[in-house]
Amino acid sequence: MAKKHPPHAEPTVTFWGAAQTVTGSMHRLDACGKSILLDCGLFQGSRAESMRRNREFPFRPREIDAVVLSHAHIDHCGNLPTLLAQGFTGPIFCTPATRALAGVLLGDSAKIQREDAEYLNRKRAKGEPKIEPLYDGPFVYRTLLKLKAVPYGEPFEVVRGVEATFSDAGHLLGSAMVRVHITTPAGTRRLTFTGDLGRPGLPILRDPEPVPECDLLISESTYGGRIHEPVEETAEQLGEVVRRTAARGGKLIIPAFSVGRTQTVVYFLHQLMKAGRLPEVPIFVDSPMAVRATEAYHAHPECFDDETRRLLEHDPDIFGERRIRYVDKVHESIALNRMPGPAVIISASGMCEAGRIVHHLKHNIEDPRSTILIVGFQAPSTLGRRIVDRLPEVRILGRSFPLKAEVVVLNGLSSHADQRDLLRSFAPLVGKVQRVRLVHGEPTPAATLAAALTAAGFTDVAVAERGESVAV
Ligand SMILES: [Zn+2]
Repeated sequence: MAKKHPPHAEPTVTFWGAAQTVTGSMHRLDACGKSILLDCGLFQGSRAESMRRNREFPFRPREIDAVVLSHAHIDHCGNLPTLLAQGFTGPIFCTPATRALAGVLLGDSAKIQREDAEYLNRKRAKGEPKIEPLYDGPFVYRTLLKLKAVPYGEPFEVVRGVEATFSDAGHLLGSAMVRVHITTPAGTRRLTFTGDLGRPGLPILRDPEPVPECDLLISESTYGGRIHEPVEETAEQLGEVVRRTAARGGKLIIPAFSVGRTQTVVYFLHQLMKAGRLPEVPIFVDSPMAVRATEAYHAHPECFDDETRRLLEHDPDIFGERRIRYVDKVHESIALNRMPGPAVIISASGMCEAGRIVHHLKHNIEDPRSTILIVGFQAPSTLGRRIVDRLPEVRILGRSFPLKAEVVVLNGLSSHADQRDLLRSFAPLVGKVQRVRLVHGEPTPAATLAAALTAAGFTDVAVAERGESVAV
């Protein structure tokens, strides 16, 4: 267990999550005699490891005085209800849009925790102790009450002597980089935490703001070893796939995460149709969570880029609600299976492992007129990965199906900066930053980015290790 930090000791950051991996973002800042968490994300790995890591904090939650949250993705905010359940009582600072999306995402997470526990309990032998969900709805509600919304660009006091400011990270609605200024007897120390950094050119969101100057830079490194395809080219390719599938009379099935990716795809399809560049094919977004997430987007136009704002001045319907059917009820979802093509169906989960998408895949995978369009990362041993690998037969809901539908993979819709974007964002800081620590990346991309940053002139660059502390 970590000890309370003495008031006049040098400020330090200890990396407790997303160290050489991409989930469970959680870094502890000890400064001015107080302890602050940057993010408190859910660790997502094997079931046994996830259960242990998410239930057992490497410190006492009541030692933490405040949390500063970079954005609403579950690997950044998803373990906050556990922190509260185990004794944390302080404030959680985030942007207004993050507060709105956190409600959608944490509510869904509690539902998944409950279903997961129910499934495991059904498989338990009689007399074995029951598995409790990691957290439930009431703790999500208590967490949401703790969220204090602060707009971009407005400095706020986290604890006495520690001031923070959010700037737009351009990664998800409300996503922020966190600049922290710490007043110490030896002067001000500055820390910048990128959270997840977006990329220029993504629709709807603004491009990432300049990275604030700092002494210690903590950066994500998800795609530190990769260069993405340009966003505009991907939109063109998306249009091509729709045209081709519609001409065959097939259905275009798009598994997509309900928050972020779905809105990007819908936005592109709607704008292409509005411009007369696509045939008017019926589009269905089959996900109750996507409906709620899209409402959060509508409620936070302050996060939109100039192009989206201009569109809004002429037409408030930027997500094409007049054209696109948002499907909430289960019977409406089932009815889509009987409907003839052409049609576009966007549904969750993004990796095809659960939810309504599984049924749409089952009904279309054998149809050579249909297309399965993969727009996000597919982890190994998921149904999504087996489709990407174009296995001749895939198992869905306990039955084997021949894979006869066309499979298209578009990698250009990523909402994470690639290596070129990261180097460009950090270039103005060369010679000004004392040390750089990389988090939120698998070991290989993180090490590749570390080498590239060192080559670009940064000194003291390293990939953070779990439990390691560095001075700010
Ligand atoms: Zn994220």
